[in-house]
Amino acid sequence: MEYFDKRAVSAAVITAAVWLLAGISGIASSKGGAGHSPGELLIMAGGQLAQEVSELEAEVAEDASDPYRDRPDIDTGDWMFILANPWNDIGDYTPELEYLEGQQFDVRIIEPMEEMVEAARAEGLSVLLSSGYRSYATQTWLFNRKADEYGEKIAATIVARPGTSEHQTGLCCDITDHYYEMKDASLENTQMYQWMSRHCAEYGFIVRFPKGREDITGIIYEPWHFRYVGKEAAAYIMEHDLTLEEFLELYQ
Ligand SMILES: [Zn+2]
Repeated sequence: MEYFDKRAVSAAVITAAVWLLAGISGIASSKGGAGHSPGELLIMAGGQLAQEVSELEAEVAEDASDPYRDRPDIDTGDWMFILANPWNDIGDYTPELEYLEGQQFDVRIIEPMEEMVEAARAEGLSVLLSSGYRSYATQTWLFNRKADEYGEKIAATIVARPGTSEHQTGLCCDITDHYYEMKDASLENTQMYQWMSRHCAEYGFIVRFPKGREDITGIIYEPWHFRYVGKEAAAYIMEHDLTLEEFLELYQ
C-alpha cells in the first residue's frame, strides 16, 4: 500500500471515529441519555453513521452517472444562447447588425464567421453564405404570404412564425457550396458540409438542426444551417451530439 493511500485510509478512520463520537454525544444529549445504556447509545450512533455513509455514497454514485457532469461553466443568459424556436418567441428582438458578403449578422459573430469562411476557403472549398439575419418584419411578410395561400396552420409548418425563426437572432447562417446550393438532406454529402461539421466548433458554431431531432428543435434536418454559441459550448455540443435545446436544458 502506498504512503498516500495509508494516509487517506487513516483520515477516513479518524473521520468515522469523530462522527461516531459526535453521534453518541448528539443522541445522549438530545435524549438526555436517560433510559439508554452506553451499549444502546453506541448501536444507535452506529446506525446513524451507516445511514450518513450510504447517503454520501448515493450522492457520489449519482454524480458519476451524470454523463454531462463535465459541461462547460457558462451563463445561459449570455447573448449567444438566445433561443428562438416554435416554443420560444423572441418578439421583435433586433441585434446590432453588420454586413458580411451580402448577408447581415449580429456584429459580435462577424469575426468568427470570417475566420471560419477563410479557413474553409484555404481548404479549397467554395463557400456561399446564403442567409443570415432576417428581421421580424421580413418573417411576418414571409409567413403571411404562405398563410394567405395555405392557411395559418399549414403555413407554420413551412415558414417559422414571426419571432420564432433563428435567423432573427443574427447568430446563424445558411452555408452551402457555390456549386451545390440545394438546401436538402443530400447536402450532407458535399465536401463543404463534411469540413464544416468537423471544424465549425473550432470557431464557435454548431450544426443547429441535426438529423432525427425534429421533435426537439421543431425544424427538419438542415445540414446547411450553422449557429454561433461560442467556442466552449460549441465544442461540447458537437462532441456530445446535442441540440441547443438539450444543451440549455443541462443548466435548468
Ligand atoms: Zn437557416
